[in-house]
Amino acid sequence: MRTVGNFIAGRTQPALEGGSLENLNPATGECIARIPDSGPADVDQAVAAAREAFPDWSARPVADRMERLERLAGLIQANAEELAALESEDTGKPRRLAREIDMQRAEANLRFFARAMSQWSSAGHDMGPTGFNYTRREPLGPVALITPWNLPLYLLTWKLGPALVTGNTVVAKPSELTPLTADALARLANEAGLPAGVFNLVHGLGARCGQALVDHPDIKAVSFTGGTVTGRRIAQSTAPRLIKLSLELGGKNPALVFDDADLDRTVAGLLRAGFTNQGQVCLCSSRFLIHESIYEPLVERLVEAVKGLKVGDPEDEDNTQGALISAAHRDKVLGYIDQARQDGGRILCGGEATRPTGRCQDGAFVLPTLIADLPPESRLHREEIFGPVVTLQRFSSEEEAIALANDVDYGLAATVWTEGLSRAHRVAGRLQSGIVWVNNWLVRDLRTPFGGVKASGLGREGGHWSLEFFTEPKNVFINGD
Ligand code: NAD
Repeated sequence: MRTVGNFIAGRTQPALEGGSLENLNPATGECIARIPDSGPADVDQAVAAAREAFPDWSARPVADRMERLERLAGLIQANAEELAALESEDTGKPRRLAREIDMQRAEANLRFFARAMSQWSSAGHDMGPTGFNYTRREPLGPVALITPWNLPLYLLTWKLGPALVTGNTVVAKPSELTPLTADALARLANEAGLPAGVFNLVHGLGARCGQALVDHPDIKAVSFTGGTVTGRRIAQSTAPRLIKLSLELGGKNPALVFDDADLDRTVAGLLRAGFTNQGQVCLCSSRFLIHESIYEPLVERLVEAVKGLKVGDPEDEDNTQGALISAAHRDKVLGYIDQARQDGGRILCGGEATRPTGRCQDGAFVLPTLIADLPPESRLHREEIFGPVVTLQRFSSEEEAIALANDVDYGLAATVWTEGLSRAHRVAGRLQSGIVWVNNWLVRDLRTPFGGVKASGLGREGGHWSLEFFTEPKNVFINGD
């Protein structure tokens, strides 16, 4: 069993008060590590280290910071197999997925933001003989990065890259459920030559360690990805200090399938959209809205395809579906399925937990589930389940499809399935959603803005949006004579 420490000023250490928490492998139920149960004293120390490192780090030439981030990306690439194994053990996701999505993106995130910095410029304004105006972009100071359990290294690097390359120093708090790849990254950070105190890591519970971090007076911005309830609490905590806040929150994403959709491509796309990472991606489509004229044949094909998904041991390269993040989360997802039965829904496939044989028999596995015929007011159509559960609804017109899609609190990522160009543009324009993918799912071009509307978040990350978030503009005017 591993012992994970906090990473403060370049050194690994236990929690100052000595407490620790268990870290479980959700696919087997085994305890695989102990992590620090950090509190305000640990957070203080980490923020002090970040504050001390800030003057030197922020004053370095940009090329120096870019080079060190590129080195860190190279180390992720060189250690990708080992990191993928750790991520899979910690989250229960198939190792193949951790390798093909999480590790590739973690490396790409750091490379992208290191290089984006060299393309980023702010225009000057020539006022003729009067003078010249220009805009500096200055780093903020120590910033807090708080991340969830579903894409641990992927989302940490998504924030770390732009925060560091723009000259900030960082205190990160990964989810207490998935500390292992952040811990590994800390060791790689030393190897990549990040100076002590530039990247610090505190582990522990959200309500204690995370809350102490967002409340710390020396933290100048918080970039948070996680649930909407937590996001609202963080917004309340940081509001009196008027610091920058980026919130990437939950979703209840619709897939709109029109009668002119290419069914082969739609079935393959919906399978990915609904069930990647056991439905535990904030971008997953969890509501399939289908035109009535193709509803029966499409649903028949979907049921067949979903039944073909292979659920089991995440280490087995043939499995496409691993475990959910915890036994508690599995029970919550099963609770929603029970609710669906009570609401009169029809379970077309799945609908129950499963126990793979061998070392995974005590794991948190749920069969991929499709549910039809729920009444419109059912909670399953509105609340984020964050598991392998998709509800099906029929519509008879474009107008009705758009109304159903928009009739939830969330607005993160919609997909539209149609061969009609005008319809694609028209519908995309009317959806209340931060992202719309037409005839595809999860196409991430890192230059584009990423984030949601309504209860799905506040602000955007990605491309120059991230670089802007982690800096403060300053206007300078030079008099002409
Ligand atoms: P969560 O909100 O429970 O926890 C996220 C992080 O916040 C964890 O590190 C947790 O320890 C910390 N935290 C909890 N309470 C805190 C507090 N009071 N102060 C500071 N930090 C605190 O979310 P989760 O269960 O880990 O993740 C699942 C959620 O994340 C889902 O709702 C999912 O949609 C969302 N998510 C959103 C995106 C996106 O980009 N929009 C991406 C991935 C996940």
